[in-house]
Amino acid sequence: MPVDLTELNAEELSARHEEYLKAYADLLNEGLSLDLTRGKPAPEQLDLSTGLLGALGEDDYRSADGTDCRNYGGPRGLAEIRELFAGFLQVPAEQLVAAGNSSLALMHDSLSYAVLDGVAGGPGPWRGTTDAPVAFLCPVPGYDRHFSLCDRFGIEMIPVPLNDDGPDMAVVEELVAADPRIKGMWCVPKYSNPTGATYSPEVVRRLATMETAAPDFRLFWDNAYAVHHLTDETVEIADVLALCAEAGNPDRPFVFGSTSKITLAGAGVAFFGSSPANVEWLLKRMSYRTIGPDKVNQLRHVRFLRDAEGLAAHMRRHRSIVAPKFEAVREVLEETLGGSGVAEWTRPKGGYFISLDVLDDCAARVVRLAKDAGIALTPAGATHPGGRDPRDRNIRLAPTFPTIEEVRGAVRGVATCVLLAATERLLE
Ligand code: PLP
Repeated sequence: MPVDLTELNAEELSARHEEYLKAYADLLNEGLSLDLTRGKPAPEQLDLSTGLLGALGEDDYRSADGTDCRNYGGPRGLAEIRELFAGFLQVPAEQLVAAGNSSLALMHDSLSYAVLDGVAGGPGPWRGTTDAPVAFLCPVPGYDRHFSLCDRFGIEMIPVPLNDDGPDMAVVEELVAADPRIKGMWCVPKYSNPTGATYSPEVVRRLATMETAAPDFRLFWDNAYAVHHLTDETVEIADVLALCAEAGNPDRPFVFGSTSKITLAGAGVAFFGSSPANVEWLLKRMSYRTIGPDKVNQLRHVRFLRDAEGLAAHMRRHRSIVAPKFEAVREVLEETLGGSGVAEWTRPKGGYFISLDVLDDCAARVVRLAKDAGIALTPAGATHPGGRDPRDRNIRLAPTFPTIEEVRGAVRGVATCVLLAATERLLE
């Protein structure tokens, strides 16, 4: 276990620095080729869903109400897949749409419809001007693809701090009350990407009830990790749709989710859930885009997952593959960086990521050192709007895809880079 580097005098630090330089030279000599960037399921996780491929026999193409799933139509998606996911996504089945294979695509489409037409009951299109662009609140650290969507649609991003229990609500409330340009906010309410933070009931209540200067404000509620538990604790979040309705803001949340990290990441089912008015708003616009979703895929998901217990059992099998990798990251970080005073990391109870904070102004250096040693890390800054982390300290670790041995090797190497970058910085 290293000593607290921040408490050493210059001489002691120099000695440590020499030691880490040597460790880094050894790391370079190992000629590693490892990757901690990919937040995607490992092949063994995909193998859990191989049964999906044969879940429908040749004659099995009718849904419970007799719909021939092979044909066009049924824009809301099959009733039985919506019923299966209603509880997990906390959206009544009749207010849930099952469409396409990617929730990110549904976020993209919702945003583009809002920009083009405005939202249900809203005053008009979300087209800002150069002087006064539409703005979104972005809890940071956050998911880079949310930020890319804002970039794509010319939406200004206003970072707000993400605490362990969700976004800093005092900051959020003040901003949304004062600025009518703020039309939306990204939220990953459970096991967030990348910190693993889960929003407390109080935070959800405040998001549902807060006064917003924009009458057409929307929460983009990306519940991507609703069932992705890594411990015995089945973490639950408050029901945002119900709380918003109770508060007189029924149209505030757009709920998104998918089976990308439940079944097959490239061939899952995605969901949009909201108020009846918002569902009609979406369906009307989707009708120009498609003559119906892939109901065959939805039907085979129903056959394969069966019911809520079938889904929960399936997620336990994922956990048995994923949790040991998270544990390995934790063990190695603890052993190499615990007590060093130059790194902190999250201990998520679910989801796909661990967030590592290093000394200020060191993240880009760590990522560069790791790259040169053959360890790919998500670019420093990616967890912040515009790719700019003002403190240059946050690094996202994604341990699901590599093998457990690769995870150990990669994190060990990263730790060497963290220690080297820290002594460089402290000696400046
Ligand atoms: N939302 C979050 C928070 C994610 O982390 C990811 C993938 O990493 C996605 C959405 C992508 O979801 P989908 O595969 O349904 O498009």
